[in-house]
Amino acid sequence: MSEIKLKPCPFCGGKAKLIQIDKGPFAVVICKVCETQSNVFLKAEDAEVAWNRRNVDEQNKEVPLH
Ligand SMILES: [Zn+2]
Repeated sequence: MSEIKLKPCPFCGGKAKLIQIDKGPFAVVICKVCETQSNVFLKAEDAEVAWNRRNVDEQNKEVPLH
């Protein structure tokens, strides 16, 4: 159903994956490498969109990595 492709982590470039929290209808995207997380959303699609949006925002700001 969901065709959204997750962008790589904005901090380490690692692969991101979607996790659906089984205690409720919640979803979050997490980086497999550094464990950075998106916010938690009710729908998987919303979590994926938020993750990708934040990724773009970080790149546009060109914030130096610490
Ligand atoms: Zn990462």
